[in-house]
This record gives sequence, structure tokens and C-alpha cells, in this order.
Amino acid sequence: MKKLIVFFLLAFLYVLPFGMVLSGKVIVLDPGHGGIDKGAVGPSGLLEKKINLELVMDLAGILKAQGATVYLTRTSDKYVYLEDRIELANKKHADLFVCVHHNSLEGYPKFDETEVFYLNEGDTSKFAAECIASAVGKALDLKWKVKKDDFKVLRLAKIPAVLVESSFISCVKREKWLRNPFNIWKESVALDFGILSYFENVGGEVK
Ligand SMILES: [Zn+2]
Repeated sequence: MKKLIVFFLLAFLYVLPFGMVLSGKVIVLDPGHGGIDKGAVGPSGLLEKKINLELVMDLAGILKAQGATVYLTRTSDKYVYLEDRIELANKKHADLFVCVHHNSLEGYPKFDETEVFYLNEGDTSKFAAECIASAVGKALDLKWKVKKDDFKVLRLAKIPAVLVESSFISCVKREKWLRNPFNIWKESVALDFGILSYFENVGGEVK
């Protein structure tokens, strides 16, 4: 109950100044992994698929409150084919596809940074990656990188698309931090900042 009150209080305070800035925008959010595909597993057993979903549920709430039309590739712990994830975004003619993950690097329990991937050079994917990477990196006080890579969901995208590795679940400190739902909320707010700055600045560029 307490969590719910804090959530709505923050949601109200945070959303208010922005009004409906995302009105008319279609955003497809994709929580990585799910079902039999656990994704990465933290040092003490935290599952990436669970954290990705929690973050995306928070983020979807914020984006909707800001006027966006939001579609999710999954809203529960189920397996969804990569093709189906990006197909949803293509079919909805999304303005932006954001795939959410948490990274892992075995043998480096202290390593933590924000990485955002893009692939297509012919649209504004790279710019979206830069906006989101810098927003999340700053909010989490992490080094941030924008990288080009051939992920399947990005390869099949016909719309601007990014894959966000917000932080490293393999980092002992970060895993502990991610166990607190309030911190997941903070990460989702950071992603939202990045998405807002993308849409605020993307005007004039080729979509
Ligand atoms: Zn992942």
C-alpha cells in the first residue's frame, strides 16, 4: 500500500509539468526474455526477465500518463519469440521501439555501465540510443555507451528501434539495488527522460 501511495505521488509530481507531450506518439516496449528464457541471473539469483518486466510496467504507466499510446510485447512471465516482438512494433507503425534488458558480465562482479544499442543508420535509431543512454547513465551515475550491433529485434525493425541494457545485473551492488522496486521506478523514470528528450529533439530529422 505504501509503495502504491509513493508511486502515485511521484507519478503525479513527475508527470504534471510535462502535460501531454507524447500525445499522438506510439511506443512499443519490449521487456527482454520471459518464460523459459530467464535471461541473465544475478549473483544471488535475481532474474533479468523479472526486472525487465517490472521496469517496463513502470515505464508504460509514465508514458501513458504523458499521452503516448503504449503497447507491450508481454505483460506477464511468458516466452515471446523475437520476431513477434518486433512484428508488433512494425505493425503498429510505432514511433519508437524500446527493448529493455539488464546486462551481465561473468567474472566481473563490480562492472556496471549503461549500454544502448542501435542498428539502422537510415533512421533516428542512433539518436534515440544517445538520448536514452545519456539519460539513464546520468541518473544512475554510470558510464554510458551507444553501440551498433546486429540484434535480431533491431535487424527486423522498420521503425526507429533501440535495445537498452540499463545496468549490469551481474554487478553485486546493482543486483541488490535492483531488488528494491523503488529503484526500478527510478530506472524507468530515467528511461522516460531519455525518451522525452528524443521526441523533443527529433523534429526535423527523418523518422
Ligand atoms: Zn537480456
